Amino acid sequence: MTAQTMTLGYARMGKRRELKKALEGFWSGALGSEALLATFWDLETQAWQTQLQAGIDYIAVGEQTLYDHVLDWATWLGLIPSRFRGLSGLDRYFVMARGREGLPALEMTKWFDTNYHYLVPEIEPEADPSPNFGDFLERVRWAQGILGERTSPVVLSPVTLLCLSQRSGDLRADLEKLLPLYWDLLQELQQLGIPEVQIHDPILVTSQGSGLQEAVEMTYRQLATVGIPVHLVTYFDDLGEAYPWVVQLPVAGISLDFTRGHNLDLVRTYGFPADKILGAGVVDARNVWKIQPEAVLAGLQELQGVAPNLRVQPSASLQFVPHDAALETQLPEPLRNVLSFAEQKLAEVALLARALNGEDTAAQQAEIRQQWQSFAQFSPPNPQVRQALANLKLQDFERSLPYEQRLSRQVQLPPLPTTTIGSFPQTPEVRQWRAKYKRGEVSQAEYEAAIDAEIAKCIRIQEEIGLDVLVHGEFERTDMVEYFAQKLEGFAFTEHGWVQSYGSRCVRPPILYGDVFRPQPMTVREFQVAQSHTQKPVKGMLTGPVTMLNWSFPRVDIPRREQAFQIALALRAEVADLEAAGAVMVQVDEPALREGLPLKKERWPEYLSWAVDAFRLATGGAKPETQIHTHMCYSEFGDIIEHIERLDADVLSIENSRSNNKTLLQIAQAGYRHQVGNGVYDVHSPAVPSVEQILQQLRTGLAHLPVEQTWVNPDCGLKTRRWEEVIPALKNMVAAAHQLGEELLETQLEGSL
Ligand code: GLN
Ligand code: ZN
Repeated sequence: MTAQTMTLGYARMGKRRELKKALEGFWSGALGSEALLATFWDLETQAWQTQLQAGIDYIAVGEQTLYDHVLDWATWLGLIPSRFRGLSGLDRYFVMARGREGLPALEMTKWFDTNYHYLVPEIEPEADPSPNFGDFLERVRWAQGILGERTSPVVLSPVTLLCLSQRSGDLRADLEKLLPLYWDLLQELQQLGIPEVQIHDPILVTSQGSGLQEAVEMTYRQLATVGIPVHLVTYFDDLGEAYPWVVQLPVAGISLDFTRGHNLDLVRTYGFPADKILGAGVVDARNVWKIQPEAVLAGLQELQGVAPNLRVQPSASLQFVPHDAALETQLPEPLRNVLSFAEQKLAEVALLARALNGEDTAAQQAEIRQQWQSFAQFSPPNPQVRQALANLKLQDFERSLPYEQRLSRQVQLPPLPTTTIGSFPQTPEVRQWRAKYKRGEVSQAEYEAAIDAEIAKCIRIQEEIGLDVLVHGEFERTDMVEYFAQKLEGFAFTEHGWVQSYGSRCVRPPILYGDVFRPQPMTVREFQVAQSHTQKPVKGMLTGPVTMLNWSFPRVDIPRREQAFQIALALRAEVADLEAAGAVMVQVDEPALREGLPLKKERWPEYLSWAVDAFRLATGGAKPETQIHTHMCYSEFGDIIEHIERLDADVLSIENSRSNNKTLLQIAQAGYRHQVGNGVYDVHSPAVPSVEQILQQLRTGLAHLPVEQTWVNPDCGLKTRRWEEVIPALKNMVAAAHQLGEELLETQLEGSL
């Protein structure tokens, strides 16, 4: 049987981020809705055409979005929380996404283990959804005009949608409400002459997946009665325990991710129903490297032996990779040639299918092989780095003294010490200085003088506010990962390699391509400048190895653990240099540590083991006198607290205001013994918290965590705020800490009398 090809979604925003610009224009009022929609339709059409030209047989349709595809489905299904009911159309859509005075937006959270964020639908108990699929169906019809039979509409499964939603009702009852709507939709698609519909059900690969059997069976049984062939699509991991029953569902085809998890083993163990299409996701949709054709082909041939009706596919939607590696002309050729963004991945899918179908692709395969060989010569292993890793001993992962003994040697501070998370406002002037320097319009000396003036000002302000532990302000950094990646060897940067993070926001993750090492100190100069202006301690400020790795495209030739350790060794040297320069405190931020948790709980221990080891390797060389801080925002710790303890940081600062003290409570309940920075106010809001509000937050905190363990700080960095907001907020924070400190002292005195 001839193998065909399919896509599950395409790169977003346009090659030049045209959609971002259109969205921002629309929000600012500079662009009308028609112009915005015209841009959107244009980009979607271009995406189809690109896929058509690549020869893809089944082309994903309807997954491009103005903001978020989960929000699209919530809106199409009519799952509109009552607070938005007075609104309609695009206005309502964007208010749900971004909020408006008095109308808080839907909550936003990570899409599985990716760095994409979706809006969490809210399903109210009395919800009586009235769907409107008009927009979706119009796009499908439009696509049919261009793609004909290749049109492959993408539908978000009701099971995944409900599992990701905020709801109080019973899953089955909610499903029963939604299924008739889906039924109608599938029938409409059938009437349009659509040959097959994709239903995306990634929830099936999570730990939750295997518990959903009843709901999933009910769903696909009912939808099968429409009569349109359904292709059930999963990605991001294997089906695990759910595999045996999922492959028996009444669907025409099933797509599996063969780039993550153990789906190949599952196919080997349980086989695959011969009457179903197997969508083989073999081209990694979440990383930027070309395939090794021989290896992938061998896997495909094996799969074809089990499932003769095979489709070659990217492992997931291509929304997680940028558009086109060919645009990166400034990258060294040997590197560029082994990069594969969305367009290159389409070509890979097509090549694999041709090879599988017996066409002669030897020349193309040889070319890719050759490109990888040139890359290997271009970026050979670094002997010193490899040696250092091979020589690691257990004690390299350990501070020389345990926490209890370090404590008395570290800087002594008043009770409830106050500090911040690191960054201070990045004003337009600061950004301009960085941009000018990057463009070569100002000399290094001029640039550094400008940054140093900002640092001096920042220190003066912090002293005036009365903070106990100061920071330099991070004015030299656009981004906490990019800054370090640029200072380290082994990372590359793209010009156009944007991927959507949420809504109109895009990120350009660095590409980790070679062994990492630190040619010279990265932060020492700025630290010294800051410390020279004050008697108070200034924290050295570094981004942790796990966050560096999780927010980059990692390499595929060595394990992630090893990549994290390489970064950790570079940071370890930086910690030593900071100490030598007089730092008595060093903060190593790990906001992405929790984010990196695998989708399946059974794989958590393995990840956490090396992730925590990487942090320990970065910080373990610090003298006992040096106080190691770490910061993690948006993290819940309840289920990973023992690993947080194993980080062995002296002070852990957390987000605690938006979670209503939940985070602190979890930490306290688990009996965490080290110090905790209570993130007492939300930096994401422009509102200035009152002294009373912060006092309240602190009092609740102190009911659970002893004063000796408590620090006071905002819940994250202040770079997106304005000075006018930051100064009064921090003043109130310090006032609250002082007031409480005095109260405590009084009660202590009373107690001792
Ligand atoms: N030190 C960083 C800052 O203050 C931490 C940012 C983060 O946790 N995301 O900006
Ligand atoms: Zn943070």
